[in-house]
Amino acid sequence: MAQMFIEGKWVDSESRETLKAVNPATSETLDTFPRGTREDARRAIDAAFAAKSKAEEMSAWERSKILYKVAQLLEQHSSEMSRLIALNVGKPIADSEAETARAVLVLTFAAEEAKRLYGQTIPLDSHPFPPGNKNRLGFTLREPIGVVGAISPFNFPLNLLLHKVAPAIAAGNTVVAKPPSDGPLPGITIAKLFEEAGLPPGILNVVTGSGSEVGMEIVESSKVDAISFTGDTGTGRLIAEKAAATNKRTILELGGHDPMLILDDADLEKAAKAAAVGVFGYSGQVCTATKRLIVENAAKDRFVKVFSEVVRNLKVGNPLERTTNVGPVINQSGLDKIQDLVGDALDDGAVLVEGGKRLDSTEYSRGFFFAPTLLDKVSPDMQIAQKEIFGPVAPVIRADDDSDAVAKANSTVYGLQASIFTTNMARGLKLAKKIKVGAVLINDRTNVRWDNAPFGGIKRSGLGREGVSLAITELTELKFVVANLD
Ligand code: NAP
Repeated sequence: MAQMFIEGKWVDSESRETLKAVNPATSETLDTFPRGTREDARRAIDAAFAAKSKAEEMSAWERSKILYKVAQLLEQHSSEMSRLIALNVGKPIADSEAETARAVLVLTFAAEEAKRLYGQTIPLDSHPFPPGNKNRLGFTLREPIGVVGAISPFNFPLNLLLHKVAPAIAAGNTVVAKPPSDGPLPGITIAKLFEEAGLPPGILNVVTGSGSEVGMEIVESSKVDAISFTGDTGTGRLIAEKAAATNKRTILELGGHDPMLILDDADLEKAAKAAAVGVFGYSGQVCTATKRLIVENAAKDRFVKVFSEVVRNLKVGNPLERTTNVGPVINQSGLDKIQDLVGDALDDGAVLVEGGKRLDSTEYSRGFFFAPTLLDKVSPDMQIAQKEIFGPVAPVIRADDDSDAVAKANSTVYGLQASIFTTNMARGLKLAKKIKVGAVLINDRTNVRWDNAPFGGIKRSGLGREGVSLAITELTELKFVVANLD
């Protein structure tokens, strides 16, 4: 049985209850883990609170050394970790390996950034008031914010947890991390590597259990100073409301409905190849997955023809097999949601080109597999073009011209990432300025992220920015110090 990590010790829940960690490709139980309670969360928060002074006493050099060591240990254990990700969340093995490799990078960036927590000198003599500024020295310091609550989703169970934990520790904070209940094992396992790397007890604590109990206790606690959350927009809103009661800083990385705009001059083969990864990578369960294909009229029918061929050739299957392109979705409720959105779209006049149903032949019947689906003639007002799909479904929406494509791209409450395919870079750049999102990628898929580059959404897609150095900024306080030299 997996355990929680509190104050440097591996422990069960005070309730002794457990939950199952399930393989979504087979419904088999991989392991059990503690069903933590509010009391368990409080123990972890108290440990993190008590360890604050210990964390603050560590030098940047020491914090950096530990993060480098964890990166090194993770690299040594990368095949076991990748296999664990594939088994616990049904992610194809090559994508799981990419997630582990990126997690090593995140730790390495955090180790580097820990040594660059620079403040700034402020030229006070630029102010005529108060008198005497010529002889005052002003500068800023970046100080740890305190206890950071790190709450992460199932779809990148290792890397998204580390996008919170590693910058928090680099900045001298302590952490209470809550991994997702679907896919908790990678988050628990990484804590073992922090322990092995010599992180003092209490600086990182990992509590498992439901979001509404363990997660909420972390959000509501007056001993927690910041919440770094990645997950669903509805959960994020609830967290923001609750966190406001104790004036916590909240960094929210939420849902998306990312469009790929395919202009009439685009290279359609390239666009189709990118869309295959953008839409179907990890069965579409990525915040930045391509969730709408907005194609200009002159290219639309040709694109659907080229893309349907690509979709037909995707191999659905066991995530552990290297030839698999599309694995299962995470659970039954994810599957039901996809089926409902596709059903509604067809009722509302969308045309089914490929897929459209759950795969339930013997090979797939125990897992949560949905056939790679291509829908044509989707309109922006359909549910499928408004609600986050989180499944292997490509809705094609046609656009009359560039301004119609932009209007349709901007027609959801989300604003995470977007991509544009065109052979005319100037045209692409003009549109990039008009799309209301956190990032635009030209001639690339939507679901790319560089781990130390700015990342985050606008509108209902989020608040604040991640990317290791920006996450460190979000998880520190700026202190202004002035010395009067007179
Ligand atoms: P979720 O249901 O919101 O869960 C995310 C985390 O929040 C889990 O650890 C969950 O715990 C916890 N949680 C749930 N309710 C809570 C509450 N009331 N208080 C505190 N914590 C709570 O999201 P998900 O289904 O795991 O992930 C998919 C969503 O994440 C999608 O919307 C996707 O777009 C978004 N996402 C966004 C980004 C980004 O960077 N913008 C990246 C990846 C994913 P339990 O698991 O125990 O319920």
